[in-house]
Amino acid sequence: MSIARNLAYINERIAAAAKRVGRSPEEITLMAVSKTHGPERIREAYAAGLRIFGENRVQEYARKHEAVVDLSGAEFHLIGHLQSNKTKGAVELFAAVDSVDSLRLADRLNQAALRLNKRLPVLIEINVGGELQKSGVPPCSPELEEILQAAPALDALEFRGLMTVPPYTEDPEGARPYFRMLREIRHDLAARKLPGIALDVLSMGMSNDFEVAIEEGSNFVRVGTAIFGTRPLQ
Ligand SMILES: *Cc1c(COP(=O)(O)O)cnc(C)c1O
Repeated sequence: MSIARNLAYINERIAAAAKRVGRSPEEITLMAVSKTHGPERIREAYAAGLRIFGENRVQEYARKHEAVVDLSGAEFHLIGHLQSNKTKGAVELFAAVDSVDSLRLADRLNQAALRLNKRLPVLIEINVGGELQKSGVPPCSPELEEILQAAPALDALEFRGLMTVPPYTEDPEGARPYFRMLREIRHDLAARKLPGIALDVLSMGMSNDFEVAIEEGSNFVRVGTAIFGTRPLQ
């Protein structure tokens, strides 16, 4: 299947899911998760109309960057766990970091962005399932509070919202309670009117469950396999 055909089908499904819950499909941004795929596939996705891409490793994207840097208007976000010692490279390469999961990382990103004279949009990643092998701060945790309290002083970071990867379930309905949980967390945080924290972006939903995520309020879905096909083993 071509990327353009896959994309047309995904767009239809996004529109249908939005319609089911009385939302407009225009509210929903589709990110193409291009990790493991080479520059040619990224260029094909760009030609099909995709502009926001997700990568999960700094080093992998560093190798591809030169070959896609001419795609005007294309934006690459980091969506994978970032080690604090790789923040400089991440800030140099990425338009946004959607996986901030500790104050230490936020601090390092802020310092790197200040030095490079950049503003860096970020999302806070929440580990809604509390899974040990997953990154993300636990919901309603001291770790989350710590980031929220520090946000106004992190001048180079623009906090735009929340991101999550729920526990995997074969049946996408299994993810629904977790998506709902993230929506509720956003609602509660918005009610606190925290300074320096915008909560516009709710990044949730992947190939297997983006329709359920949209029904639960997602406005940013991260889709890899359904656009590019199955990934080569890493
Ligand atoms: C790989 C990945 C995705 C996309 O997964 P698919 O199931 O291929 O759509 C989305 N979000 C994150 C954080 C990922 O690492």
